[in-house]
Amino acid sequence: EFSMWRVLLGGACAASVRTGTTPLQLLRMGASTASKASFAELRSGDDLRSGIAGFYDASSGVWEEVWGEHMHHGYYADNGRKDHVQAQVDMVEQVLGWARVDDATPASMLDVGCGIGGSSRHLARKYGCSGVGITLSPVQVARAQQLSHAQGLGTQLSFQVADALDMPFADNSFDLVWAMESGEHMPDKRQFVAELARVCKPGGRVVVVAWCHRDLAPGEEALSPREERLLRAINRAFYLPRWCSVSEYSRLAAEQGLAQIRSDDWTDKVKRFWPAVILSAIRPRSLFSLLRSGFKTIRGALVMPLMILGQRRGLVKFGLITARKLPLPPPPSSPPSSFVSPRIPSTTNPVSAIRAEQVSPAEAKAGASILEPPPAGFEWGGFF
Ligand code: SAH
Repeated sequence: EFSMWRVLLGGACAASVRTGTTPLQLLRMGASTASKASFAELRSGDDLRSGIAGFYDASSGVWEEVWGEHMHHGYYADNGRKDHVQAQVDMVEQVLGWARVDDATPASMLDVGCGIGGSSRHLARKYGCSGVGITLSPVQVARAQQLSHAQGLGTQLSFQVADALDMPFADNSFDLVWAMESGEHMPDKRQFVAELARVCKPGGRVVVVAWCHRDLAPGEEALSPREERLLRAINRAFYLPRWCSVSEYSRLAAEQGLAQIRSDDWTDKVKRFWPAVILSAIRPRSLFSLLRSGFKTIRGALVMPLMILGQRRGLVKFGLITARKLPLPPPPSSPPSSFVSPRIPSTTNPVSAIRAEQVSPAEAKAGASILEPPPAGFEWGGFF
């Protein structure tokens, strides 16, 4: 982290040369909003929601300026991809392929935690579907609408401020329920998955891509204190509550009666992302925007190396989960009903899908804790 400070200071000097501002003035600009931010521990659900909204209100502009409309990891297979913005588009495409969304072209889509609508527009263009995006940040809603109108998708897509844990939509509303890197912000993972399942149409698909912690090893009851400390530092800067593992998400999906549950770990495929973000952040122009955008954004930037550290230590995982809501429609070429129906593959059965996850007894025990109501407060907030 110390070398990060050095790099940032070096960048501040470079930015000051470019902009004719002294490094001190630049740092003061960056720190000016710090004085307005609360250094107190923020603990309630309302504090978390307003913290998230404030974080994205403040940081979305600078992110878009440097990285564009997608606010999620890029996908890097062995293709040596150099264009990082394209790597983010690749991520959406790869997830769609992995989740087999093309098998049943969605006519309606919900983008849960939509940012400025990058995924929504990609999906609307690709499938011609209608879509709704929700976020906690009013600034993101306004920008998402603006960009969608500008790209001719204004009538297909709409955006609103709404809470993913209490969504203003009727049951069974959407063919595709898409949550790209928003699950990590949810303080109650069970309620999150329950809401995703509730608004999904029968036969529809839920896709969750989320930052997760590693699965616990057999005999292990919890992450180590050192690991918990690392996550806490990340949580404070990015307004995240407690994390869960990929298999805990699968368990929650099964609990909601979802079927054909599949999960994966793409940590290896995203590991080039954070180094690229850090490099882009210390370019003089980006650094100037970063400092101007205030304390919350700067703090987010400063913990980026911790994401790399977490991934290297095998603690931070890039998880994918997909599932479908029952009852499923009959397959397109279903035999006449007089035929004996083929045996349903075991992966379509939620119970065996969970068994396939091979959850260790210790992990099952620890995992049970996220099935309890969430604690009254969260260990996050404050200064790092
Ligand atoms: N999916 C987008 C943005 C990811 S950033 C993209 O890939 O570009 C995380 C998003 O989750 C932000 O838009 C944030 O406002 C949203 N979010 C976090 N908690 C939320 C909640 N409880 N309800 C709705 N949106 C939430």
